[in-house]
Amino acid sequence: MYGKPLKFILAEYIVVHHRGRRAERHRHRGDTPARTKESRMIQVKVDFGRCDANGTCAALMPDVFHIGEDGLLQQLSTQVSEDRGDDLEEVILCCPLGAISRS
Ligand code: SF4
Repeated sequence: MYGKPLKFILAEYIVVHHRGRRAERHRHRGDTPARTKESRMIQVKVDFGRCDANGTCAALMPDVFHIGEDGLLQQLSTQVSEDRGDDLEEVILCCPLGAISRS
C-alpha cells in the first residue's frame, strides 16, 4: 500500500509535529532557535537493545543519530552541548521505545 514502512511514516509525522511545537515554544519565549547559552556538554546514551531503528531520532537530530545503509541506528556523537538540551529532550520524548537517555 505504502512505499515506506509504517515506522518511517510515523517517524516523519512525529518530526513535523514536534518541529512545529518547537518553533511555537521559541516564539512564546521571545527568542529564536539560535543558540544563546554558553555550553556544557550533555552525555547521550542509546540502549541499542531496545532500538528498532525507526529513525525518529535521526530525523530530529541528524548530526547525532543516523540510520545506516544496514538499516541500523548509528550514534554519531555521544555528547551534545547544553544549549541543545531542549532538542535532546524532544528526541528522548519522541523515541517510542524509550531507548535514549541523557546524563
Ligand atoms: S533510538 Fe529510539 S527514536 Fe532512535 S531509531 Fe531507535 S527507537 Fe527510533
